Amino acid sequence: MPVEPVERLENIWAENVFDLSAMQASLPKAVFKSIKKTIMAGEKLDPSIADTVATAMRDWAIAKGALYYAHVFYPMTNLTAEKHDGFISPQGDGSVISEFAGKVLVQGEPDGSSFPNGGIRDTFEARGYTAWDVTSPAYIMETDNGSTLCIPTVFVSWTGEALDKKVPLLRSIAAMDKAATKVLKLLGYDDVAHVNSSCGAEQEYFLIDANFASQRPDLLLAGRTLFGKAPAKGQQFDDHYFGAIPERVQVFMQDVENTLYKLGIPAKTRHNEVAPGQFEIAPYFEAANVASDHQQMIMTVLKHKAKKHGFVCLLHEKPFAGINGSGKHVNWSVGNSTQGNLLDPGDSPHENAQFLVFCGAVIRGVHKYGPLMRAAIATASNDHRLGANEAPPAIMSVYLGTQLEEVFEQIKTGTVTESKQKGVMDLGVDVLPTLTKDAGDRNRTSPFAFTGNRFEFRAVGSSQSVSGPLIVLNTMLADSLDWMSNRLDGELSGGADLNTAILTVLKEVMQEHGAVVFGGNGYSEEWHKMAVEERGLANLPTTADALPVLKEEYIEDLFQKTGVLTSVELESRFEVYAEQYILSIEVEAKLVIDMAKTQIYPAAIDYLSQLSETIASLSNLGVTLNQGSAETVVNLANAVMEATGKLSTALEKHDFADTEAHMMYCATTLRPLMDEVRESADALEGEIADSFWPLPTYQEMLFIK
Ligand code: ADP
Ligand code: MG
Repeated sequence: MPVEPVERLENIWAENVFDLSAMQASLPKAVFKSIKKTIMAGEKLDPSIADTVATAMRDWAIAKGALYYAHVFYPMTNLTAEKHDGFISPQGDGSVISEFAGKVLVQGEPDGSSFPNGGIRDTFEARGYTAWDVTSPAYIMETDNGSTLCIPTVFVSWTGEALDKKVPLLRSIAAMDKAATKVLKLLGYDDVAHVNSSCGAEQEYFLIDANFASQRPDLLLAGRTLFGKAPAKGQQFDDHYFGAIPERVQVFMQDVENTLYKLGIPAKTRHNEVAPGQFEIAPYFEAANVASDHQQMIMTVLKHKAKKHGFVCLLHEKPFAGINGSGKHVNWSVGNSTQGNLLDPGDSPHENAQFLVFCGAVIRGVHKYGPLMRAAIATASNDHRLGANEAPPAIMSVYLGTQLEEVFEQIKTGTVTESKQKGVMDLGVDVLPTLTKDAGDRNRTSPFAFTGNRFEFRAVGSSQSVSGPLIVLNTMLADSLDWMSNRLDGELSGGADLNTAILTVLKEVMQEHGAVVFGGNGYSEEWHKMAVEERGLANLPTTADALPVLKEEYIEDLFQKTGVLTSVELESRFEVYAEQYILSIEVEAKLVIDMAKTQIYPAAIDYLSQLSETIASLSNLGVTLNQGSAETVVNLANAVMEATGKLSTALEKHDFADTEAHMMYCATTLRPLMDEVRESADALEGEIADSFWPLPTYQEMLFIK
């Protein structure tokens, strides 16, 4: 693969994005002013200017070689969906013109009937339609088959129900903005700009040579290996992490980054990850909605470019058993242009007060809605990773860092003397603590850690859309801030001064919710015990345990009162996610059976037949070969078939009381049986001659680049 010339960033940056500057260059002044206002306020596109905008957008796209346009939307699965249409429009006289009217920006009708809707559209007998989300700019995606104008859209039912992940994300930002504004006003600010949430997502992935991947039905169909003996050398030496990036991978990364820069995606860091064959790409943080769209584009570009460079890019959370899996750390903060980052401690006492209020609201949120955070990251694939001593446990807690934890601890008990001695902080009622930022203070075993001026949700899976986690974070913060403003308001009207009111409310937060703050080792057995038994936190090890949280009344209340999801929308999400979980485990189980019967068992038979032939002909010569190996292979082959038989029988069960029971069956019956087949099969791999083994090995896949 020839190395593409490295272009100067300034020359290619956002050249494929119909952003504000592209609009300014192509729209009449009045129209530009109007659309800019719409974008800034996050409002719907004004139909009276839609035609003008559409024409400018089309001309811009055609000048860049686009023949098609696509409404891009984000269904409830973690995928990106596209409906492509040509600009071409046949005329009555047999000629054609290129047409792209404003109405396709305002509203398009994809044939979305095959996208999961969790019963919504059956209930309302309505089609889904898409409409441009003006806060996310249109762009051109270049592929080998030509260029397409892509329009990021919301996907809703005719009756207005959200069928995607974008609508609830936009609503969650609005709810958070409203509640945050109320709090900021109480803190004494008159000028409060729109509060937005920001996200910077770190994406981990594996690269495997495409020649190997094509011989592994499990990688092709399930995205992970269902069989495979651990290599003699795994990641024990830690020599891959931050090691030199292999040249072929570097060329791939450069190609990915060039494409991302043209799309206006600020890819910033890249490095090897812990496991062999594992890498990371992290863009600079952006407004949550744009960051989420960009994250989806990053996943698309990674997969597409990998193919071009002879790789397969695996985004699965656990492609290889026994080797570190992949996560997607979601760095999250909230802020606006008038008060700045509200999760930044700042330098002045006033900024500190504001920070403590917002941080306290987050603590309350994680305590009240930790199970919901767990549900937001619940997928069949992420279950392999959580709690496996490489990723945070399935118990949600908050890591604050030593200093901040101490501050909150003291707010809780109301003792001020100790800290005064250290001269760091003063918790007297009229002076709030002065905090020094300590970004180096990291705890990698926490699912949700404060990292200086943001929180890092570390338990999110590598294949997930970041929208789900962001929706939950924004929504629970909205709820907490709303509670906070009511309590603060109560204290202030009771005659308390602002600092006293803040300390009183924060003390209450810590007394009620402080149990969720934990600075120790999240991987340890002691924590798992203490969290559940002493602190009353939920440990939801599998998706089957976590998803039913969506059906709890307090969760329904949360989404309803914040206006983020109606009951119908929430229920549909439970149905879709549960169905996805069940489907992916059942597909994997079928694959295990197929591969065991048609690849692994036959390999054992072939090997045995050669072995027995050799044993027989040697015995004719009066020589005896040690038959131990033959016996071991026979026993293991039998064990594989026996476990496969059990799994096949288990898969035949179809009568379940409800979806919850079906999920639990997948988690507690099917999964262990799949492991049972695998155990004997992997042992076989260690017994059979390499030349007979039908699947590329871990060693080959992970170490050959
Ligand atoms: P690390 O690997 O140490 O966690 P990285 O540099 O790989 O850190 O990634 C950190 C991510 O956090 C980046 O995407 C960065 O842009 C993002 N980030 C930094 N500040 C903020 C913030 N205030 N809000 C949200 N994300 C942020
Ligand atoms: Mg990182």
